[in-house]
Amino acid sequence: MKKVTIIGGGIIGLSSAYFLLKEGFEVTVIDKSTITSGASYVNAGYISPSHLIPLAAPGRVAQGIKYMFDSSSPFYMKPRLNRDFLKWAWLFQKSCSKKNVDSSAQAILDLTLLSQRLFKEIYASGDVNFHMEHKGLIMAFQTETSKQHEEEVVERALKMGLQIDYLNQKELAVLEPNLIAEGAFHYHSDSHTTPALFMNAMKHYLQKNGVKLNTNEEVLTIVPGKDKVEITTSLGNYITDEVVIATGSWSESMAKKLGVYLPVQAGKGYCINTDKPTGIKHPTIIMEANAAVTPMAGFTRFAGTMEIAGLDETIKKERVEAIAAAAQRFYKGLDFSSEEKRKATFGFRPVSPDGVPFVGKLKEQAHITIATGHAMMGWSLGPGTGKIISEIIANKKPSISLDRFSPERF
Ligand SMILES: Cc1cc2nc3c(=O)[nH]c(=O)nc-3n(C[C@H](O)[C@H](O)[C@H](O)COP(=O)(O)OP(=O)(O)OC[C@H]3O[C@@H](n4cnc5c(N)ncnc54)[C@H](O)[C@@H]3O)c2cc1C
Repeated sequence: MKKVTIIGGGIIGLSSAYFLLKEGFEVTVIDKSTITSGASYVNAGYISPSHLIPLAAPGRVAQGIKYMFDSSSPFYMKPRLNRDFLKWAWLFQKSCSKKNVDSSAQAILDLTLLSQRLFKEIYASGDVNFHMEHKGLIMAFQTETSKQHEEEVVERALKMGLQIDYLNQKELAVLEPNLIAEGAFHYHSDSHTTPALFMNAMKHYLQKNGVKLNTNEEVLTIVPGKDKVEITTSLGNYITDEVVIATGSWSESMAKKLGVYLPVQAGKGYCINTDKPTGIKHPTIIMEANAAVTPMAGFTRFAGTMEIAGLDETIKKERVEAIAAAAQRFYKGLDFSSEEKRKATFGFRPVSPDGVPFVGKLKEQAHITIATGHAMMGWSLGPGTGKIISEIIANKKPSISLDRFSPERF
């Protein structure tokens, strides 16, 4: 049986492990953390075909510059004299174009729809016991500017086959009585989940079925040979047939070890949970705050901010306060205790310069496959990416075209 070693045990690594196991491979996942926190745990849990516009879109650079000096803004790019960041920022500004959106939207939607179908299949199979609901996604706005901005996305999404309703204030109040907004667009395509339940149940399933999950073990070097790959970790050496690099925001330095340029910056996001009843029934993006609200299993989550400032693990109080204050401006009677705000946590989204993931084999190193750069869509795209990784390694035709996802496009 061929051995596959996956570096990184976030949603992308675990989903890859799941489908590689189904293909009959002997799978080991190595992660430097305990796999109990980070982006794959704190995200908003959206499986969102509605998010077909990549982060690198027209207007994003201007928005970044506008917010650069506001430490409570939802999108923040910290100017730094760091070579990797400067190169990434240059590629990012080049990608913030209509051309990039036109060439990416269909590829992102195809991967999301594949992934959503697979989430449903995993749910139905009973392999992994988790919470998933399908109520769509509400994009709620308080200002005409936000409404007009979303109308452009709606126009494109309708053409691409999504079902979307416009809700006036009265209609919105029927769905979400506590929401304070002028109106909303209701994307019927989206589902939502509770990430930690999925992650924990998936780890359990994988281990029960023979996948080795090595935690607290950092991969230090990767040496590809003609037929095998040698990996050195903080705990020992491994010889394996295939390697999958699913190291999220740490992927650029991992790829450097192979002499490959894989531009990925960390986009830090925060979440606050409240166990108190909020009356919130539908996943909702509160547009002016750029924050995501999700009724999860037993609590409500408020997630937001995209802070491109390196792998900085400090929790900025002003950002947590900004998410809480914005949520309170959108929901009647919502209140966060100081304990809930103190427990706010964060994760790093792995952001590629054009907002499109890197999924595919390296050209020169035939036994190394890349799966990263999923930015704000990594949860939605997890199972779809995992399935494709398993198809690539099993030498099968991928379920969707991979042209747009080439890991060596930069
Ligand atoms: C606040 C917030 C809200 C979000 N909401 C959504 C949402 O609603 N829907 C959506 O689709 N996406 C959402 N996302 C994005 C999504 O969570 C991420 O894109 C996704 O979790 C990335 O998964 P990953 O497996 O690539 O990376 P990670 O989950 O970061 O996993 C990478 C793993 O690699 C390990 N690693 C790194 N280097 C090494 C090494 N050298 N050796 C061993 N292990 C290593 C790390 O320890 C880590 O566990 C959100 C993200 C945030 C932060």
